[in-house]
Amino acid sequence: MIADMHCHVDLYPDPVQIARVAAQDNVWVLAVTTTPKAWTGTKQRLSNFRNVEVALGLHPELAHVRGAEISFWESLLPKAPYVGEIGLDGSSQYRDHRQIQLKIFQRILTGCKEAGGKVLTIHSRGAATEVLETLEKSPGCGLAILHWFTGTKSELDAAKRLGCWYSVGPAQLRSTSGAQRVAAMPRSRVVLETDGPFAKYQNRALRPSDVIDAIEVIAGLWGISSDEARSQVECNQEEIWRFAQKS
Ligand code: MN
Repeated sequence: MIADMHCHVDLYPDPVQIARVAAQDNVWVLAVTTTPKAWTGTKQRLSNFRNVEVALGLHPELAHVRGAEISFWESLLPKAPYVGEIGLDGSSQYRDHRQIQLKIFQRILTGCKEAGGKVLTIHSRGAATEVLETLEKSPGCGLAILHWFTGTKSELDAAKRLGCWYSVGPAQLRSTSGAQRVAAMPRSRVVLETDGPFAKYQNRALRPSDVIDAIEVIAGLWGISSDEARSQVECNQEEIWRFAQKS
């Protein structure tokens, strides 16, 4: 079963429909959330779907307006094997809020560490170095998946040293630079994502089943068949699921 490891299911007009189509297509989905309130609501709404897990998030772009919810986030953590979307955003609109972003991110990683480690899906746009430095200071926080990683070559080298994972999708693979970055990632650490409904293709929001499109591109980058690429990715997913089961 192929997986979309980073999708904002709750932000589509009809989340239940998205989950249902994914189930029909035999696609597993990690539904990331941007606030702890969204986690409780989404979990309830999608509780019938065995192909969906909901990750407990507090998005860096919301840190300055929703940061006060960190205590609520912490209170929910014992019930959440998956955490995200979390991280730092260094792009121009959010750069002014980097202090509060960092404070929240550090508190989240500390919580995960104290809980014995979680599966984390992490945003690092324009802040890859800072994200990696923060992760390095929180050993034991869990299995870190860098979502849509666009760091430099040296930032990717730093991520490799930390043993990070990567979720990559059709939108990221469309650009030459994005594809080059993915080609340099360790094959045993690559899984798929859509980042829908934010990520779009031909003016349509990507949906979980669209991760299939990424397989062919990755196979080309790796110089192997699509079947082999799919097996490798599925094997990688299994490792993440096993980690989550322990947490
Ligand atoms: Mn996202």
